[in-house]
Amino acid sequence: MLVLLQEEDPQVHGHHYDLRRSYPEAFFTHTRFGNPLMLIGSYRFNKRSDSKGPYLRWVCTRKDTRCRATAHTLDNIIVMLNNTHNH
Ligand SMILES: [Zn+2]
Repeated sequence: MLVLLQEEDPQVHGHHYDLRRSYPEAFFTHTRFGNPLMLIGSYRFNKRSDSKGPYLRWVCTRKDTRCRATAHTLDNIIVMLNNTHNH
């Protein structure tokens, strides 16, 4: 399921929109190797190595299944989420 902002929702307009209401809670931790890890429900995402700063890009850890689920976070808040997994 690709989650996008609903432009027709009157509450979306302006700067009072709370992104955390539109996306599930993300939990940030590290792997036992010290790499950043984000958990959304039971799914785990690795931070892309080319991603730095407050705006981060994450990819599903199950790259072996060619899973294309991705997430973007800004200051540890999900701002884009493709949470469609093939596993
Ligand atoms: Zn996945």
